[in-house]
Amino acid sequence: MAASPASRVEIVRDVASLRARLADWRRAGETIGLVPTMGALHAGHISLVHEAKKHARKIVLTIFVNPAQFAPSEDFGSYPRSFEPDAALFEAAEGDLLFAPSGEAMYGEGFATTIALAGPAAVGLEDRFRPGHFAGVATIVAKLLNQCRPDVAIFGEKDYQQLQVIKRMTRDLDFETEILGVPTERDADGLALSSRNVFLPAKERALAPSLPAALRGCARDINEGVAIETALYTARAAIAAAGFATDYFEARHAETLGPIASRGEGPVRLLAAARLGKTRLIDNIAV
Ligand code: AMP
Repeated sequence: MAASPASRVEIVRDVASLRARLADWRRAGETIGLVPTMGALHAGHISLVHEAKKHARKIVLTIFVNPAQFAPSEDFGSYPRSFEPDAALFEAAEGDLLFAPSGEAMYGEGFATTIALAGPAAVGLEDRFRPGHFAGVATIVAKLLNQCRPDVAIFGEKDYQQLQVIKRMTRDLDFETEILGVPTERDADGLALSSRNVFLPAKERALAPSLPAALRGCARDINEGVAIETALYTARAAIAAAGFATDYFEARHAETLGPIASRGEGPVRLLAAARLGKTRLIDNIAV
């Protein structure tokens, strides 16, 4: 275990050291909040840290670019990595422990276990376009929850389907940790903050806010009484006109993520994924 110079943040790279420190804290009566990330931190991640601090005294942020949740065709190799700036941001947010394990520390030799999911993980949204993704996410989150045994763990609504998958898994498998979601942090023009936004060339960055604008317009239409299918049709046309190739743009039940035809059937969430050049953006909002 090492503390960087003049830092209150402790950096830990292996599970045994993590558990030793957390056991000290628990003996001292501290509560623990967990914020799992893949690093390349931005203000969205930091808003999760701030939320964690409302619910727990000691905050653990994890940085692990999890190979199991990337398909071979995806960007595991080029995913942005920026450990020193990340540590400084976490420090500035008054975090306590940064857990940044190696691949070997998380997936030891002979590793052979994956969590099988249904429910919100099998509804034809991200799962349709990223097969195996949520199994990779759920398996690593289950490991992190077992390693840390936090009182609360914080996830962003930015990855709305992921949040529902994790809530379902922790309920189904009796994890004691409370799972909390935090609203999406956005740039002034409405684009959801994402580590992958750095890949957007200037021209595409200028077009990208069309996606949240279409989500807002669609929510407004539905709230004003336009039929869901009609509102979706208008929104899909708007993002196609802005140059997006759409994977999905859907209205779903906000908890089950199952199909929903009208507002009367329950809370509605709009969820979208669309590609702009080589970058894939996902976003969602409540209706
Ligand atoms: P990632 O590092 O992309 O895996 O994200 C780590 C956590 O931060 C996840 O729970 C994300 O949902 C959350 N997150 C990512 N972007 C945002 C954002 N713009 N606002 C709030 N939370 C976010």
